[in-house]
Amino acid sequence: MPVRPENAYQARLLRLLRDEGPRSRAELGEAVGLSRSKVAGELDRLVELRLVESAGLAASRGGRRSSIVQLSSDIRFVAVDIGATSIDVAITTGRLEIVRRASQPLDVSQGPKAVLSEVLRIAEKLRAEETVYDLHGAGVGVPGPVSFRDGVPVSPPIMPGWHKFPVRDVVTQALGCPVLVDNDVNVMGLGERHAGLARSVDDFLFLKIGTGIGAALFVDGRCYRGVDGSAGDIGHISVDASGPPCACGNTGCLEAYFGGAALARDATSAARTGNSPFLAERLANAGQLTAADVAHAVAIGDPAAMELIRNGGRRVGQVLAGLVSFFNPGLIVIGGGVAGLGHGLLAEIRSVVYRRSLPLATSNLPIVLSELGEDAGVVGAARLISDQVFSADPSSRPYPEDRA
Ligand SMILES: [Zn+2]
Repeated sequence: MPVRPENAYQARLLRLLRDEGPRSRAELGEAVGLSRSKVAGELDRLVELRLVESAGLAASRGGRRSSIVQLSSDIRFVAVDIGATSIDVAITTGRLEIVRRASQPLDVSQGPKAVLSEVLRIAEKLRAEETVYDLHGAGVGVPGPVSFRDGVPVSPPIMPGWHKFPVRDVVTQALGCPVLVDNDVNVMGLGERHAGLARSVDDFLFLKIGTGIGAALFVDGRCYRGVDGSAGDIGHISVDASGPPCACGNTGCLEAYFGGAALARDATSAARTGNSPFLAERLANAGQLTAADVAHAVAIGDPAAMELIRNGGRRVGQVLAGLVSFFNPGLIVIGGGVAGLGHGLLAEIRSVVYRRSLPLATSNLPIVLSELGEDAGVVGAARLISDQVFSADPSSRPYPEDRA
């Protein structure tokens, strides 16, 4: 198994080098509050462990020039983002930069054995393309609730056959490195926290609107998962108990109104009832409609499609307004496939949230679309496992921390 830092100072140094890039020994000493000789000792040990390497000399600050160190260029993480209908696998550096990546369509409902064997096949193929590397860990996001402690999905509505399947253990055994599994929305939120618009915000909400709808909560810089790992599962908050049936068995959930499947359903009905000649033509050509067709219809100004987005945005905004009053976040980032519907949706969500939340909670609350797009999942999966690998005693900490 790969090596780990031996104490909290080493862990903190590794995270600094991951997040800030190469630094001089003097700067690192100041950042972690260690004397020159103490920080030199910790860094020398990290060099021996092949976690850190020298990167030349810093510009002179008058006295002896301090040498620059960086994370070892051989460190590699595997990052896996399993979506409802596709898988993304990437290999990243220690700084979580993507060096190799592959995506392919695959339905998660094919079950864990078929999906994970494909994930592992792609991971091995990408790994084989790397000549020199040390595999330090793998992060995996799956589209359903996860018991984070056990690394297993729990009663995931759109993942038949995955309930309590030992995803973490299977991937650990195959790759021979530490593995963490989390819900895909939490993982995307971690990606936003690492490299997206939430990089400098400690308390924020990430909202994913894709096939399903879910949120990730970040409190004081950490992902808050709740007692059982289902915090943020807001797609099943009831908007109207007499509403349409939902995949979870209830009626009138947010997800039953909006999200990929609901949008496809409503677009099909708009096409069939003659409300949208544009969607009717696409339905006739393709045999079915998806959220992407609605996005096209919105782009050409189709009134029925714009109405669908306004209604959906209003309901999402209604739920978000409640969350804002409850949680008082400093930022809301919206991502996922349906976020590609763009600014019309964003405008509707903003207007409802700003109108319905208390002024104090929204006076300083940007609501923005993700700029990471499809990279959020893999960057977040790498961040997830790197937080654990770059901590001194991961076994005693159920939640990855930002500060060692
Ligand atoms: Zn539901």
